[in-house]
Amino acid sequence: MLRTVILAASRSPQVERLVATAPFTRDLVRRFVAGAKTDDALRATRELVDDGLAVTLDNLGEDTVTPEQATATRDEYVGLLRRLAGAGLTPAAEVSVKLSALGQMFDEQLAYDNARAICAAAEEAGTTVTLDMEDHTTTDSTLDILAKLRKDHPSTGAVLQAYLRRTESDCRELATAGSRVRLCKGAYKEPESVAYQSAREVDKSYVRCMNILMSGDGYPMLATHDPRLIAIGEDRARWFDRGPERFEFQMLYGIRPEEQARLAGEGYTVRTYLPYGEDWYGYLMRRLAERPANLMFFGRAVLSK
Ligand code: FAD
Repeated sequence: MLRTVILAASRSPQVERLVATAPFTRDLVRRFVAGAKTDDALRATRELVDDGLAVTLDNLGEDTVTPEQATATRDEYVGLLRRLAGAGLTPAAEVSVKLSALGQMFDEQLAYDNARAICAAAEEAGTTVTLDMEDHTTTDSTLDILAKLRKDHPSTGAVLQAYLRRTESDCRELATAGSRVRLCKGAYKEPESVAYQSAREVDKSYVRCMNILMSGDGYPMLATHDPRLIAIGEDRARWFDRGPERFEFQMLYGIRPEEQARLAGEGYTVRTYLPYGEDWYGYLMRRLAERPANLMFFGRAVLSK
């Protein structure tokens, strides 16, 4: 119920204005977001890499509505990749890209062209791109664009969401040599016709999808903070004899950092998803919806002011 309310608020410009101007918001944003500027992102990347973690950077922004905004996002990524390479942070750092930020909602060809420019810049920088997955109305379009991008840039990765009923079949399609797939539970409010609704069903689907990816020929990226799923991931890695160069765990910046350090300390590849930029509202609200206990953090921040 609370999750539904928070996800609805994530689409509301009125609530966004309220949250953005609240004096306590800064502390909350800082917990989950590296900062507003590219320099902040580079600084946080350096710290994570020095701690033995790999990184994927997300320039925050979604639902872009003009070609100019889409082009500006593309240019930000291209500049970021050059700076990461210049700072010696590739290949440890790669980038995650939302196609909606590149124009997918109004011009699929433009989104593809922009994504292709980012993939080319990543290749030049010696690193990779992963396409984030948004709500289910975009899944087909995102997978189509992925297939086109992989013709020239085969290392381009995609995200599959275990809560979607279609995902087991998508995992089978993508569990092939050279394919990089990030498996997550899924963060959007989706109807029952396309998505499992209970946590138990989503978890069971995650395990089925993980089995397909870990037994396949691709490179699985297990994106979850769920202790049970992480333990199953460790078990499958042993079972399928996958060392740290053949799969990875991924978690979000600011969430279970001690677990990220533990796994890295045990020799696993662990990648932290690091968002930065001004447009943090939708991202922050999805994090709150996943874990209403974070509202306590929010509450404490309010009370301490
Ligand atoms: P949950 O059942 O939500 O959580 C398990 C446990 O993890 C909780 O009990 C708690 O201990 C901890 N935890 C989880 N979330 C939080 C939080 N916000 N704050 C504090 N503790 C928490 N979703 C998409 O739809 N598309 C994407 O492209 C996408 N990319 C992602 C990339 C990465 C690297 C990661 C880690 C997640 C991504 N997600 C994406 C989000 C994902 O779908 C889930 O919404 C999110 O990861 C929470 O699910 P969970 O597997 O951690 O399990």
